[in-house]
Amino acid sequence: MTLHRPIHADAKTTMETEVLHLRRRLAKAHRILTAGGIWPLTKGHVSARIPGTDKVLILGHIHSEGRSLIDTDVDDIVTVDIEGNWLEGRIEPVDERFLHLEIMKARPDVTSVVHAHPTYATAFGIAGVNILPVGNRGAIFAPEVPILDFDRQIDTPERGRMARDAIGDGLALVLKNHGVAVCGDSIENAVIATFSLEETAQLHWIAARLGTVQKISTGEVRSVLTGARKEEFYSHVWGHYERLDPWHSATPSGGHGSHS
Ligand SMILES: [Zn+2]
Repeated sequence: MTLHRPIHADAKTTMETEVLHLRRRLAKAHRILTAGGIWPLTKGHVSARIPGTDKVLILGHIHSEGRSLIDTDVDDIVTVDIEGNWLEGRIEPVDERFLHLEIMKARPDVTSVVHAHPTYATAFGIAGVNILPVGNRGAIFAPEVPILDFDRQIDTPERGRMARDAIGDGLALVLKNHGVAVCGDSIENAVIATFSLEETAQLHWIAARLGTVQKISTGEVRSVLTGARKEEFYSHVWGHYERLDPWHSATPSGGHGSHS
């Protein structure tokens, strides 16, 4: 006798495996950003769209438990729909989920958003100065990083739409007196872009103390944003950031999402 599993059961198992994999990568992103010092007091969050659905994985409100994000695990990740309704997970989603969701709604190219409070990038918003594409890692932020002149939490759909309008089709946004939002077409790329934004802000700040800030040339920006150089921009540095994960040594080999 042959056992036939219903096709939909197989599809369900595949989906569950895929979502678990995403949750692991997302939890890891929180640990890496924490270890990299990107969010003082370890406050911030990362989201990821579940492919082919209108559901999004995002951090639960574990800050309310007094936890550090250095220990973020899969159980700390919850599921919401694109409107922000809490669907699954042991703890309610972060209030600022609307920052992530409104950007994702408007931008099919964005599958992951980081919200963080890095010191230098945030300082540019406080001063009302746009971060320019400078240095090795700045090209992806051309022509400049917009600033949202609104200093409260992005905890309603309406406020999320303000952020969406301010970021436009850009990769990053500075929220005045608050922090940043950074987009990616994967969890890992959103993390890399967040570190790159803070590095770019630091370089801009130091260069401005020394003299006139000169942006990367348009030709170089174009070159970094296309083809192999764009691929290299992200893929060649992931291993560096991955090693920041305090859980990294548990597995010998790296690669996107291979580590739980
Ligand atoms: Zn915030």
